[in-house]
Amino acid sequence: MKITQTQNKKVKPDFSKLGFGKYFTDHMMMMTYSNGAWNEPEIKPYSPVPMDPCTNVLHYGQGIFEGMKAYKTPEGKITMFRAYDNLKRMNKSAARLCMPEIDIDLVMDCLKKLLTIDEDWIPTAPGTALYIRPFMIANDAALGVHAAHNYIFFIILSPVGSYYAHGLQPTKILIEEEYVRAPLGGTGECKCMGNYAASLFAGEMAAKKGYDQVLWLDGKEHKYVEEVGAMNIFFVIDGVVVTPALVGSILHGVTRRSVIEVLQKDGYKVEERRISTDEIVQAHKEGRLNEVFGSGTAAVISPVGVLNFRGEDLVINNNEMGAVSKHAYERITSIQNGTAPDEFGWVIKVN
Ligand SMILES: *Cc1c(COP(=O)(O)O)cnc(C)c1O
Repeated sequence: MKITQTQNKKVKPDFSKLGFGKYFTDHMMMMTYSNGAWNEPEIKPYSPVPMDPCTNVLHYGQGIFEGMKAYKTPEGKITMFRAYDNLKRMNKSAARLCMPEIDIDLVMDCLKKLLTIDEDWIPTAPGTALYIRPFMIANDAALGVHAAHNYIFFIILSPVGSYYAHGLQPTKILIEEEYVRAPLGGTGECKCMGNYAASLFAGEMAAKKGYDQVLWLDGKEHKYVEEVGAMNIFFVIDGVVVTPALVGSILHGVTRRSVIEVLQKDGYKVEERRISTDEIVQAHKEGRLNEVFGSGTAAVISPVGVLNFRGEDLVINNNEMGAVSKHAYERITSIQNGTAPDEFGWVIKVN
């Protein structure tokens, strides 16, 4: 691996006002693919990447990404949370988008080196972390719809606070019955660029009505719950934790899996199955819908305070974060930031 360190480090932002994805560290990792193989990876100063206007990712969106986090423990050690799972998922996305797979061990070594070089960018206050964004783009300088022959893989790092402006305050979510995110047979299981572009329109319309996100339904009957923009979704109905089964159009969230494992270990009943909008509305009407929350790397757990269905606001748990949501949040974040023992083997030591 080739390493070039910057001569002029950036001025760091105020770590108490990070927001999400606004600041980037001093270095990045980059690795090109040509003639059927990955070339030597490079760590170099964070900088713009010149690109021919005809580069095919700019036209056809053959691109994928991942998102995970690094932390600093109270002892000052750098750690990552379940990052192998993210890189494995990235290779699944790559296969689906006809892109070359990465060597996970090699990329992990580069990532650890990158984190060590930029370690003074890892924030330590509660709710903060260093967000890691690996991504891969098609890089043929030619038009024409086909799988590219050249690619670039990058890793960039961003110190982050909470994903939503209002932190752990419950969000307002609109159940979207007309537009869909991903049909069966599509690319819903991948973190590929096009999925997010396709989701913007419904998201904007929901925002105009005062909602933070949309809850997507299945692509065929528009009846069964799938997930939120960049989060999986959980319901607590009669004390049972229920989340949509991974039917092929839903992203296999690492946080989703962690929530299930933590809650099962702690004695909660967790079901992965189909959940219809009828079931949710009925449960709410009968006072049995105890909690709703989203799970994802960015926010970890995001309580839902209002679900809008066909113009009616269903208020969940008095618009407050519920006990199960709180339990999952505290269990997972304390393992992540090193204040509780890693009983699941999720924490990766960097140094
Ligand atoms: C990234 C993402 C999630 C959450 O996945 P995590 O691995 O928990 O971060 C859920 N849904 C979609 C659509 C996503 O892009």
